[in-house]
Amino acid sequence: MHLPRLVLLLLLHLFFFQVQSQIPELSVEGGDYPIESNHAANPCITSAEYEFLEQRCAENLKLLGLPHVEQRSTNTTTLGWPLRSAAGVTDCGMYTISAYVDQNPTSGTVADWNCGSNTYDGHRGTDIAITPYPYYKMDHNEVEVVAATAGTILYKSDGHFDKYCATNTDTANYIVIRHADGSQANYFHLKKNSLTAKTVGQTVVAGEYLGVVGSSGNSSGPHLHFEVWNGSTVATLNDPFAGNCNTLNGTSWWATQKPYTDPAAIKVSVNTTDAVIPACPATETPNESNSFTVPFQGAGLPVGYAKFYLFMRNETSGLTASLSILNPDNTVFNSWTYTSTATYKAGTRSFSKLLPTAPGTYTFKAVYNGTECSTAFNILSATDISIIPYSSSAIYLYPNPANGTVTIRIPDNLIGSTATVIDIMGLVVLKSEITTSKSEISTTGLSSGVYFVTVGNSTQKLVIAK
Ligand SMILES: [Zn+2]
Repeated sequence: MHLPRLVLLLLLHLFFFQVQSQIPELSVEGGDYPIESNHAANPCITSAEYEFLEQRCAENLKLLGLPHVEQRSTNTTTLGWPLRSAAGVTDCGMYTISAYVDQNPTSGTVADWNCGSNTYDGHRGTDIAITPYPYYKMDHNEVEVVAATAGTILYKSDGHFDKYCATNTDTANYIVIRHADGSQANYFHLKKNSLTAKTVGQTVVAGEYLGVVGSSGNSSGPHLHFEVWNGSTVATLNDPFAGNCNTLNGTSWWATQKPYTDPAAIKVSVNTTDAVIPACPATETPNESNSFTVPFQGAGLPVGYAKFYLFMRNETSGLTASLSILNPDNTVFNSWTYTSTATYKAGTRSFSKLLPTAPGTYTFKAVYNGTECSTAFNILSATDISIIPYSSSAIYLYPNPANGTVTIRIPDNLIGSTATVIDIMGLVVLKSEITTSKSEISTTGLSSGVYFVTVGNSTQKLVIAK
């Protein structure tokens, strides 16, 4: 072969390689993220349940020696947000408002406090739906209900089934907190057996754990129904949000009232393949990973690609998300934008993008409506994994191979991090918060095989032998 022809072939090869590597995106998928909302035919709390609730509260007020309040005379209650992420959960947000209080008393017509229609006929609370992956979040106790303000436990109900999808006659798991000024807050639909161990008559402080968000009682999906009363009876309903169409009360109960709609990037993730979102009440399979061993092959994807997911609260038509994959030195590996063309209570988009191939810790970042959300992920080469050089930042696992409990030693600067166990397909199979420099993690749920344990930037191979 003549030398010029060889050069030409080499150039052609380089050209095609170049062209192939410049196909950065295969598809953009997603849209309206399903929120299973209650509605007029399936109200959060039935009239029978309200009647029961009012009677129990009246009885317990007498038992506790607290006065029955027809309407509180002075307002000393200021509310904080009644939800928080559990320790170790790194999502940037976890809820959207699926229904406010219906301020329009006429049957068949609705108005929320802002004169909009984010409510349903006769609704008496603020429905805060958890998203994305509500059943996954519920199964993993990721979203906790906390006391919006201090008070006395007036009533609690627990032990009831918590994965309802539609109308039923079962009782919800719930807790009622009576405030110092005679008002009260009702927290409904909690997860079975998740309620605080405190009993009726004991006090809670603002922000104290009350339970886990679930879908008990007349609930269409995991959400908190948060309902405030101005006194001790159902008739004293208030709406904590101040606005032009709030006819129940003039001032906001919130320390800081959140905007009517609050567009934000609430979660980003890097996925090995598409997330699986089955019908209610089956648990979702996110298929997320924060570690990819190259060459990586995800199901349904070309070699080297992963799915980059963005989840938005109040996705709003016309708003643009800026997305980027950052190199370990924070320079840009890839960046793109996405402009919303529709408005949803919760929206999601997934982008098929080439993964980096050089080992290191990368960042996937999204900015939406001024809010920033990011997640770190590791690129590992197959040869990197088995031999971790000694260093002060290394983690140690023993015994290894293991069967049952594994002790993990980490440097002090990683205390409070999450240990992530990844299988050889790149799927996250276990997450555990590491709270001391020497901790134990149970691997009894893992089958025999090779796994990778990552804490911070350190990864160690773990063999499970049974
Ligand atoms: Zn509700």
